[in-house]
Amino acid sequence: MSNNEFNFDTLAIRTGHQRTAESEHGEPIFPTSSFVFNSAAEAAARFSGEQPGNIYARFTNPTVRTFEQRLAALEGGESCVATASGMAAIMAVCLAVLKSGDHIVSSRSIFGTTTMLFDRYMGKFGVETTFVDLTDLAVWEQAIQKNTKLLFLETPSNPLTEVADIAALAELAHAHDCLLVVDNCFCTPALQQPLKLGADIIIHSATKYLDGQGRIVGGAVVGDKETVGTDVLGVLRTTGPTMSPFNAWIALKGLETLSLRMKAHSSNASQLAHMLDQHASIEKVFFSGLSSHPQYELAKRQQKDSGGIVSFRVKGGKEEAWKLIDQTKILSITANLGDTKTTITHPASTTHGRLTDEQKSSAGITDNLIRIAVGLEDIEDIMTDVSRGLES
Ligand SMILES: *Cc1c(COP(=O)(O)O)cnc(C)c1O
Repeated sequence: MSNNEFNFDTLAIRTGHQRTAESEHGEPIFPTSSFVFNSAAEAAARFSGEQPGNIYARFTNPTVRTFEQRLAALEGGESCVATASGMAAIMAVCLAVLKSGDHIVSSRSIFGTTTMLFDRYMGKFGVETTFVDLTDLAVWEQAIQKNTKLLFLETPSNPLTEVADIAALAELAHAHDCLLVVDNCFCTPALQQPLKLGADIIIHSATKYLDGQGRIVGGAVVGDKETVGTDVLGVLRTTGPTMSPFNAWIALKGLETLSLRMKAHSSNASQLAHMLDQHASIEKVFFSGLSSHPQYELAKRQQKDSGGIVSFRVKGGKEEAWKLIDQTKILSITANLGDTKTTITHPASTTHGRLTDEQKSSAGITDNLIRIAVGLEDIEDIMTDVSRGLES
């Protein structure tokens, strides 16, 4: 199905399935490691790349391909490579486009494990990273060096929901011969399509909203045919962090309801954010759909909706924050997100617990900060659950 011919929800449901001789309606799972050739000549042609087709499931599997084609269509990219996890997707991009002596400029407000990958592991192989403030374009520009190859960011940021101007950063990246890589985990293509704003490579943790039901760990890279379809695929073929056919099937079925779910996550999160914003026991709410948000106008331009993450500071400190968390009855106390189930977490003592006090305060991770990844339960029940700890 061509990207120009159909709209998002049709692509999400119809792309990528090649019906087999069994005439199945639903997408089949192909739990096979290898594929058979009709002749020695065909085997040779497949291996040399002369003839397209399946070879071995480390890099070719029909179920995985269905997921890849569907996600590529939704992001508006030429190629997609599915990976074993979101981290494997980021690692594969690094191995594909960087070499020793290269430099990354990255937003400071990224997933903690990504910081570790850049700092500890890419650093070990001679790739240095400079971390900058997500929303300060001048600081991004100052950080770019002659050997900078990648600009990396997540928007909106987690947990403080800061929004970066993707188009401006893409222009900056290209003016310096760099690639702009956007981890589109929080919005998904249902709410934001960075490639259309000029970004070069999209990262996904399929673990989050793409599956959306907390069932698998998976990831994906989307971009052009050369960088992603050839170079990133080449890394996967050689190093092996492949998505399994079963996980691909879960994720591709997740895509079918992605835009419905993202609308519902956003609507629930918006109602919760507005309720908290009016509450006397709340100091500050972080949500790009509030008109008081510093990048409210940018978010409205760049995103279809605000997504499911709401963070807030309660009046008081860690004790008050922990009390609110502990008095919830239906919310899950866990750091995961992108699930039908609402999760609540205290970043300062969990996801950001390893930061020094100074790093925490410069990142805005105060002791009274709580993050909620709003799920799809009835919003009245979610608000009652959160309010319980506020009334006391
Ligand atoms: C979870 C997450 C990742 C890592 O994905 P895994 O599937 O857990 O490896 C990367 N980026 C963001 C923004 C995430 O939330």
